[in-house]
Amino acid sequence: MRELEHWIGGKSVAGASGRRGPVYDPAQGVQTASVPLASAEEVGGAVEVAAEAAAEWGAGSLSARAGVLFRLRDLVARAAPDLAAAVTAEHGKVLDDAAGEVARGLENIEFACGIPHLLKGAHSTEVSSGVDVHTVLEPLGVVAGITPFNFPVMVPLWMLSNAIACGNAFVLKPSEKDPSVSLLLAELAKEAGLPDGVLNVVHGDAVAVDALLGHPGVAGVSFVGSTPIARSVYEAGARHGKRVQALGGAKNHMVVLPDADVDAAADAAISAGFGSAGERCMAISVVVAVGAVGDALVDAIAARVPSVVVGPGSDPDSQMGPLVTAEHRDRVRGYVEGAESEGARLVVDGRSGERPQGFFLGCTLLDRVRPGMRVYDDEIFGPVLSVVRADSYEEAVNLVNESPYGNGVAVFTRDGGAARRFERDVTAGMVGVNVAIPVPVGFHSFGGWKSSLFGDSAMYGPEGIRFYTRPKVVTTRWPDPATSEIDLGFPRTR
Ligand code: NAD
Repeated sequence: MRELEHWIGGKSVAGASGRRGPVYDPAQGVQTASVPLASAEEVGGAVEVAAEAAAEWGAGSLSARAGVLFRLRDLVARAAPDLAAAVTAEHGKVLDDAAGEVARGLENIEFACGIPHLLKGAHSTEVSSGVDVHTVLEPLGVVAGITPFNFPVMVPLWMLSNAIACGNAFVLKPSEKDPSVSLLLAELAKEAGLPDGVLNVVHGDAVAVDALLGHPGVAGVSFVGSTPIARSVYEAGARHGKRVQALGGAKNHMVVLPDADVDAAADAAISAGFGSAGERCMAISVVVAVGAVGDALVDAIAARVPSVVVGPGSDPDSQMGPLVTAEHRDRVRGYVEGAESEGARLVVDGRSGERPQGFFLGCTLLDRVRPGMRVYDDEIFGPVLSVVRADSYEEAVNLVNESPYGNGVAVFTRDGGAARRFERDVTAGMVGVNVAIPVPVGFHSFGGWKSSLFGDSAMYGPEGIRFYTRPKVVTTRWPDPATSEIDLGFPRTR
């Protein structure tokens, strides 16, 4: 069994806390590695190493930083199959899906390659007689990233690409469930020429997270994970005077209007509901069927479920892999077990998809789901798709807007006017029009509303640059003996 180590100061460092956690191959259901769980002292040591590296890196030239990012882009692209295989081995998602995750992560490195342009700042000449003003964007110093299990390559790249491009040093605390691939990323960054200590990987659990949140040397924290932890990370980070962006969970609705193409909507519901076994924060969890489309849509989705090939992620024929742990599979199964007693109609029962080995669960389709049922109210994070019937457009939009979450939402329609109205009516951060998973490309920014994001900054793209820098505004006057005078009044423009 592999014994993983931390990555601090450009090299592997053995865990010293004496605490370790198991890492599984979800397709086999067996432990394949153990991961060290850092103590507060180990976290402190990594932050100190990062702080030392940050001073030099942040003062270095933009072209040097861009050069590292260009090389990292090429190395990650070349290593994409290995990275995808490492994701599949510990997360369980199918290889093609893992490759898609790497490709979406690459977008963030590509965006960050433009850092000389992105940090241009602003200049105003002659704001007053003989006075100029310019704004520069300076790095924060050491920033930390705490990431979830479901995108072990993409989410770290959401954060670290822009963080290091802006001149910060980064301490990554990846999910302890699938930690190996973060070490591969760190090795590639070193190969790309990133100075030691600018990117560090410290494994751990709540102890490591609390240590990062309480460490005075950490200036900013990016978090992605479940809503209760996101909320507490935001509150604790803010209490310690840090800049925090904390992205939480979701319950994404796909509204299907009566004029929609039923086959296209059913295809999208299957893909977005069961892709990655529903373990995506942008997965569609609820299909809202408006008016007469309901029966035909439920029939079309149900007819497609048996065609989803469930199997090990490493098998190229598989379309959906296992869930990440046995515990999580059991939790998701609990929702399926309780759905009928809550009043839902169990159209397809995913429990038949369980296997003697591995953390598998098949696709479940529920109809006649209503708010107040656990399957509707809770984020399930598994292959369970609920259909809610709505009589009108207004009822559908109210469902979306009354959800405590506001990550992604989609509308399926052929009516441009209805889509335009929907876009304006819904309270969610990312909206898809005939696009079920509207994850923004790397040069826009990603973030939900309501309990899907705590803090005022979305992730990556322009918002990422803003988060990882602080502006300094410099007002300059060069002495001109001809105009020099004593004036005790408050400076005014002249
Ligand atoms: P999680 O909240 O359990 O864990 C996320 C991170 O927090 C991990 O690094 C974990 O080690 C750490 N953590 C866990 N418990 C902690 C505690 N008590 N105190 C401090 N830190 C703790 O989330 P997960 O199960 O890894 O990931 C799935 C969740 O992430 C889902 O809710 C999903 O919606 C969400 N997610 C959100 C987005 C988004 O962009 N909004 C993206 C991906 C995942």
